[in-house]
Amino acid sequence: MPIQQLPPHVAAQIAAGEVIERPASVVKELVENSLDAGAASIAVSIREGGVAEIRVTDDGCGIAPDELDLAFRHHATSKLLTVDDLQTVATLGFRGEALPSVSAVARVVCVTRRPDSDAGARIEFRHGECVGQRTEGCPPGTSVHVADLFGDLPARRKFLRSAPVEAARVQEVVTRYALAHPEVRFSLSADGREVINTTGSGRLRDALLSIYGAEVASRMLPVSLADAEVAVDGYTGAPDLNRRNRSYTTLLVNRRWVYDRSIYYAMEQAYQGTLPDRRFPFAVINISIPPEQVDVNSHPTKREVRFRNGDRLFSLVQRAMREALIAHAPARTAARSFAPVDAGPQPATIPQTPRLPSTASSSPDRDRLALPTTTLAPAEGSLRDVLADLRVVGQIRQTYIVAEGGSGMYLIDQHAAHERVVFDQIRQRMQDGERPSQPLLAPLAAELSASQAATLESYSDLLTGYGFVLEPFGERAWLVRALPAGLASRANPDPAAALCDLLDAVAVEQVVMEREDALAATVACHGSVRAGTTLAQEEMDALLRQLQTTENPHNCPHGRPTVVHFTEYQLEREFGRR
Ligand code: ADP
Ligand code: MG
Repeated sequence: MPIQQLPPHVAAQIAAGEVIERPASVVKELVENSLDAGAASIAVSIREGGVAEIRVTDDGCGIAPDELDLAFRHHATSKLLTVDDLQTVATLGFRGEALPSVSAVARVVCVTRRPDSDAGARIEFRHGECVGQRTEGCPPGTSVHVADLFGDLPARRKFLRSAPVEAARVQEVVTRYALAHPEVRFSLSADGREVINTTGSGRLRDALLSIYGAEVASRMLPVSLADAEVAVDGYTGAPDLNRRNRSYTTLLVNRRWVYDRSIYYAMEQAYQGTLPDRRFPFAVINISIPPEQVDVNSHPTKREVRFRNGDRLFSLVQRAMREALIAHAPARTAARSFAPVDAGPQPATIPQTPRLPSTASSSPDRDRLALPTTTLAPAEGSLRDVLADLRVVGQIRQTYIVAEGGSGMYLIDQHAAHERVVFDQIRQRMQDGERPSQPLLAPLAAELSASQAATLESYSDLLTGYGFVLEPFGERAWLVRALPAGLASRANPDPAAALCDLLDAVAVEQVVMEREDALAATVACHGSVRAGTTLAQEEMDALLRQLQTTENPHNCPHGRPTVVHFTEYQLEREFGRR
């Protein structure tokens, strides 16, 4: 094919891919624009996860009618003029790419009026083409309506997930910005149902209350520490308010929601020893830092930033969080669980981010082991045979079962193995139409966050199918009357917490699994024996026998391996016998 310059609308649709990936990215860009426009109130509404429709309405400074068409052109911005301005840019946007990108891949109508002007203006685009502009009466501020996202880009549309998954992502964006800007009144409605509504009082605790409910808000501890240039402020959860993923850790830099692995790690380190394995803090932390010390122009969606003095920031964040925890923790916990405050900056090595459910079965951790190990590849096909002949030798770290077999040593991850067993049982029961449900002696109230409540609603049919009996109880609380049998086990002494955890987990699983499997995997995970549980010999024997009968004994439902095999040859070689 000869080289040719792409037609502008094709180039624009391709470029839009950098910024607009899904409905949540549209919402992020539009909300950032509203914040930059000084809005006191921002209302977001979506239909069908935002794929069908998104509307963002603000009461900010508006756009002058004669600049409206310019706002939708590439590299058109009112936020900077020279490259040097990048050093000090204080607005969330500055690239002038959001509006043209959105209008290149959807149908867009923007209606806007400056507060000091009588006349408002309206402009409309259809998949990149401007189809009209006219004067129109409207309240002061800006309202952008986006419909039919990727309507003429089937290849991009294919990558969108189900409406509830996309809605959850939109909700996450609005949640994070509502926490970042408690002085702004935020609302989000999804398919006509109000999901988020903050007061705009300016107090972060009020925003926490509106979004996560009273119980969470009451267990958040104030964080505040500054050095000569940088201040760290916010709230962090008491250690027992931990969560199973980072969706509840909000990191803001100059009130911009960002992802920074190293700072996340600093936040987690502050909890040293008080968070259970693979659990994450509930926190909202803002770092106020002179703009010239942070580069916000290193990532197309500006989700990642670069700090000039990362190490110092790391230890400041860690100290701020730790001081908050120590100041507010009960004395006994503090004495027992906290390392000396002056532990200094942490080593440069940062562990892998926690593994999200994935189908990859190789883990970087394992690659670092000195011993060569092999996981049994499904292709070997002989694991069942193998399991039948295993002799359990013992348990290590209350986590792994050590067993000897015909061709060497086997380590079995007790949680992963049990998860596989329970997962298969659950699916079988569902196929057979059984709903073993275990009523609670006294019903328990579970207070749900907005996103948990949304997940509960979209899964209510399946949850009932599993044996949950739930009843709405006030604004965002639910009464748990019965649980699926097996879920109310020794692993889960608190059914209300189990439900909250379950909903959080489903929200994550549904990103990579079908709806039914997501719930089955989550219920299996919660109903399975945990790492850290001592198992009796018979329990270990039984587990191996059960694993043998499962459909795929090699992996847990999330794709982690259940069994690691050290061959006799490997053992002998390591000991110099070969
Ligand atoms: P950027 O935000 O990077 O400047 P955008 O494409 O998002 O680029 O927006 C282009 C310009 O349109 C902005 O610089 C701003 O002047 C104007 N604008 C966009 N959204 C709004 C809004 N909600 N209220 C007022 N002005 C807006
Ligand atoms: Mg913008």
